This record gives sequence, structure tokens and C-alpha cells, in this order.
Amino acid sequence: MADAPVAIVGGGPVGLALAIDLALRGVNSVVLERGTTLHRIPKGQNLTQRSGEHFRAWGVTEAIRAATPIPRAFGNAGLVTYGTLLSDYSYDWFQRSKVGDYYHALNERLPQYRTEEVLRARAGELDQIDFRTGARVIGMRTGADGVVLEVERAGGVHSLTADYVVGCDGARSLVRDLAGIGQEMDHQGPRMALLVFRSPELDRLLERFPGKSIFNVMNPEMEGYWQFLGRIDLDGGYFYHASVPDGRRGRTISADICMRWWVRNSSCVSSISGSGICVSAMRSVIARGGCLSPGMRPTAIRPTAVMG
Ligand SMILES: Cc1cc2nc3c(=O)[nH]c(=O)nc-3n(C[C@H](O)[C@H](O)[C@H](O)COP(=O)(O)OP(=O)(O)OC[C@H]3O[C@@H](n4cnc5c(N)ncnc54)[C@H](O)[C@@H]3O)c2cc1C
Repeated sequence: MADAPVAIVGGGPVGLALAIDLALRGVNSVVLERGTTLHRIPKGQNLTQRSGEHFRAWGVTEAIRAATPIPRAFGNAGLVTYGTLLSDYSYDWFQRSKVGDYYHALNERLPQYRTEEVLRARAGELDQIDFRTGARVIGMRTGADGVVLEVERAGGVHSLTADYVVGCDGARSLVRDLAGIGQEMDHQGPRMALLVFRSPELDRLLERFPGKSIFNVMNPEMEGYWQFLGRIDLDGGYFYHASVPDGRRGRTISADICMRWWVRNSSCVSSISGSGICVSAMRSVIARGGCLSPGMRPTAIRPTAVMG
């Protein structure tokens, strides 16, 4: 007999969502998450109204709202600019709230680690979910009683058998590989680097765009890839991602070098000679070396945070 009806490999947003959904239908599951602490990458920030409808079904709407660092009244729309961030050419973008009337829930904007915190807390309330951290799946095979997973945890390896195994283990899924499910397309394109930093100066610079939280700069030099800047909170927290220059791909480069490259080539180029505010923002970022706010990794950024 199997140890569990369902084993979910990966306790990210998809694995947690599945476990909660199953639990609310009376199905028990074991969630195996290799991490022991939550990551601090502010990805997955823009969540649609459809996701909001799921949140409502899972009973987390209020908790998600409470975890959102940018108040709804501030706005979470986007802006596309041409050439540089402060260019004269721009248009409104990402006005998802405009289609709100077609849904039964609102769209949300919060860093993925906050969403995961909320989902973990909800999972903890449901007896049907056995959420195990520090549990890395390293093998999978079909056994007489179901699917057998080899799980590395607390320095040892043990087996766990389930009627069903679901691979929710992210873009480089081991479960997908072990199940022999191939990938015919590579959506990964150029290497992208993600920079997380805090800059009150940039807050002031962006006051000219009320209600906007995400900014895309279309720069012809980027060959169709956006330079993407977004607020994480209203306290100077930002993420910035763009493709990594050719010569630097495939290496770990320091945040400092990233920033220097971007200061010369990024959306802030014109504002360096223009207002000077942005360069001071970037300088303050550089001056802090790691350019990351407390609690975030301060040293190197590996330009392998690949964007799909
Ligand atoms: C910079 C960036 C920005 C993004 N912005 C957005 C956005 O604005 N909106 C949006 O909708 N999406 C966005 N995304 C995409 C979104 O983050 C992903 O779609 C989402 O993380 C997928 O969730 P997941 O649970 O499938 O995988 P993951 O979040 O990758 O979670 C997988 C989990 O599985 C665990 N795991 C992996 N292997 C094993 C193993 N062998 N054993 C046990 N555990 C394992 C990992 O530790 C991890 O916790 C962004 C992604 C990036 C990188």
C-alpha cells in the first residue's frame, strides 16, 4: 500500500496551490520541498483576476491583500517607454484592473515569496497536507504499490510511495526528466539577470508617473528584449531585469559589474546627462556594493535567472 495518495514534488506556488486544492476536496497529499527557507526573489508579482478567483476558493483573499506591500490605492499599472526610462515617448501598459468587471475577484501584485508565505500558512491549517521542507527528491521509479520516490532529507535517503506523483518542481523539473517527458522547445532565449535593490532616489524620479508600478523600456539595442523595472514596495524597493551583454553570459558576475554595465547602457543613460537623479540613484546602489536591501543576498548575481 502507498504511503500517500498524492506526492507533490516542489512546494513553490504551483505545488502549494495543488495541495490546498486537493485538501479542500478531501484528498491527502505529501509536499516535498527541498528548500528549508523561502527564497527572496520578487518574481511572479503580477497576478491576474483569475488567480484572485482561485485565492478566494482557497480562502486566502484577505491574507493575500494583507501581504501586498503596495496599497491598491497607489495603482499597479505599467508604462512602456521608448529608448530610455525618461523618454518623451511612452504609452500606458498593463492596465489589468480595467477588465476587473469580468471577474469575481481583483488582480493582485505582490512578490512571490509573500504569496508563498500565505499559501504555506494556509497549507498549515489543512490536516490533509503534510508539508515537508528540506526534502529533496533525487530519484523516481514505478514500484508494485505505486510510484516510489527517493527522498534526501536530514542527511539520509528514504523512499516514499504514492499513488500519484506530481512534478511541481519548477522550470528544470527533475520529475519531468525522470518521467521521460521531453522538451521540444527552448523558450529560454538570452540569459537574463535580475537585480534587486533599494533606491529612494528612484522613487523620487518616478513620481512623474503616478499610479505606475512597472516600467518597460524598449531599447533597440536590446534586440526586442525589454529592460524591465518594477516596484516591490513603496519604500524604494525595486527589481530590474534585462538580458546580459554577450561577453558576460554564462559567468557569475558581481552586482557591481552589472550595475556599471547598466549605467552605461541601460534605460538610465539619458537621465545621467539629463536630470542626474537617476545616476545618483544608481550610484547609491553601486556604493552599497551588493546593491541589495537587507535580507536579500548581498554579493553576486548569477546571470542565469533565466526568463521564460
Ligand atoms: C524574474 C522572474 C519574474 C517573474 N514574474 C512573473 C510575474 O510577474 N507573473 C507571473 O505570473 N509569473 C512570473 N514569473 C514566473 C513565476 O515565478 C513562475 O511561473 C513560478 O515560480 C512557477 O511556480 P512553480 O511552483 O511551478 O515553480 P517554482 O517557483 O520554481 O517552485 C518549484 C519548487 O520546487 C522545489 N524543487 C525543485 N526541485 C526539487 C526537488 N528535486 N525536490 C524537492 N523540491 C524541489 C524548489 O525548491 C521550488 O520551491 C517570474 C519568474 C521570474 C524568474
